[in-house]
Amino acid sequence: MLTGKIAIVTGSTSGIGLATAEALAAKGCTLVVNSYSDSQQDHAVATQLAEKHGVEAVYIKADMAKPDECRDLIEKAVARFGSVDVLVNNAGIQFVAPVEEFPAERWDAIIAINLSSAFHTTAAAIPHMKASGWGRIVNIASAHGLRASPNKSAYVAAKHGVVGLTKTVALELAGQGVTCNAVCPGFVLTPLVETQIEDRSREAGLDRETTIRDIILAKQPSKQFATVAEIGAAVAFLCSNDAAQITGTTLSVDGGWTAQ
Ligand code: NAD
Repeated sequence: MLTGKIAIVTGSTSGIGLATAEALAAKGCTLVVNSYSDSQQDHAVATQLAEKHGVEAVYIKADMAKPDECRDLIEKAVARFGSVDVLVNNAGIQFVAPVEEFPAERWDAIIAINLSSAFHTTAAAIPHMKASGWGRIVNIASAHGLRASPNKSAYVAAKHGVVGLTKTVALELAGQGVTCNAVCPGFVLTPLVETQIEDRSREAGLDRETTIRDIILAKQPSKQFATVAEIGAAVAFLCSNDAAQITGTTLSVDGGWTAQ
């Protein structure tokens, strides 16, 4: 159990982030839910988590594209709950285009949200984790942090960067009770992937089922999506005391993709 540990999950109003928040709340964590939209629905996510799991949970708006807001998220959480014990860097976006056609604005946004935000939140969280002598940082990287695919230059570069950041932070914190690891999902059926299914299906003129089997899951030997709950469970394990000596590594949840 992680009873009373204070956990921040970036980008946690949908998909993998929400399932991770659920998994941590189920272990007894106090939760900080985040996105950039500050809608009623966003706040409702925190309320529902609190009611379902009997934990405290708040929603804090912060745009992970903005360095100051990344750092403020940590400080606002500390102001509210006194510290931060678990940081899950999950917020992420995708854009697909050949590198010569890739809009520079999309490149910048993906590097900012998928990579630089993890640097800023981690830098702000570390002093608090060091002070308490216990901390868990989990970065949601991707199979694309370990392998490349065409037309995903910014995403692949960002996710490889996340894996590099993970290893470096782990070395800097080794022996101080604070671990840093990356979870590398293969394809998981979330809004981020739904968009890719729709786009690829339209481009190839194929139905949804064929697109999923022959295009989306072409590299995933299990031919099954990983579930958001499976990713949340992997994160929760890395946050447990049993994982105290696991640091600086990647945990693939990818149906065999990166075994190839
Ligand atoms: P999703 O679109 O369901 O969720 C993304 C979350 O990030 C949302 O909650 C959104 O509000 C938040 N977000 C986006 N931009 C933000 C910003 N500027 N500031 C704050 N929050 C922001 O996608 P998902 O599939 O659940 O993706 C979550 C993470 O998992 C991402 O880092 C993604 O790269 C990674 N991932 C996903 C898959 C997959 O197949 N779905 C595979 C590997 C890795």
